[in-house]
Amino acid sequence: MKETLAHLVELQAIEDELRDLRQTKAKLESLTKENAEVREVFEQMLAERGEQIEEVKSFCKEKEDSIKEAEETTRRSRSRLSLITSQRELTALNKELDAARRKNAQANEDLGKLREQLADALADFEKKQGEYTALKQQMSEVEDGLRQRIADREAGITAQRARQQELRKAMDPGLFSRFNRTVKARKGVAVVPVGPGGTCTGCRMQVPPQQFIRIKHMSSIEYCQHCRRILVDFAGLKGEPAEAPAEG
Ligand SMILES: [Zn+2]
Repeated sequence: MKETLAHLVELQAIEDELRDLRQTKAKLESLTKENAEVREVFEQMLAERGEQIEEVKSFCKEKEDSIKEAEETTRRSRSRLSLITSQRELTALNKELDAARRKNAQANEDLGKLREQLADALADFEKKQGEYTALKQQMSEVEDGLRQRIADREAGITAQRARQQELRKAMDPGLFSRFNRTVKARKGVAVVPVGPGGTCTGCRMQVPPQQFIRIKHMSSIEYCQHCRRILVDFAGLKGEPAEAPAEG
């Protein structure tokens, strides 16, 4: 009987690994999709910021052009100074020069502000790009970790399937099919260790004292009365010193 119990524990261990493989594959699939979505949002944000930067750059260019133009106008006005013959013309020209100076001062101030804005936007853009690079790195590390785990599990799968068949042949067919039914019904877990003090570690319910003694004795197959999983004294099976059954 001890051997059958040991086989059941081994079958469960194989089942756990196969389940882990399935879950890791599913996790990788959903994570890959999720990460791709996050990257898309990030890239879109970066593209928008890039466009805004280009826009500020073109505003700067416009301002620079209008400053050049105003300077050109001023230069032309000054060159007319030597041609002036009346006070009226001089007053008009001075007015013109004054207006051009004011316009230029305003344009220079605007340009200064735009350049400041551009510098901030560029610094922020660079920071965001750094964050994005770090995020992509982190994502691929996690994804690679999962891929590695899948590869490791898959490497052992043939041997595990073979061992499953060996155990099936060595076991009573009724017990084997009951094991498989419970695996399906109980989220992949049909065999659980009995907890210290006599609890089912599958459903956390207390095992009756008499049954706990039988589990410790390892001469029968014991099912949890609540979740119907097979209860095994894992420590006892490994030959570790038995623990006294809890009182009451
Ligand atoms: Zn239970």
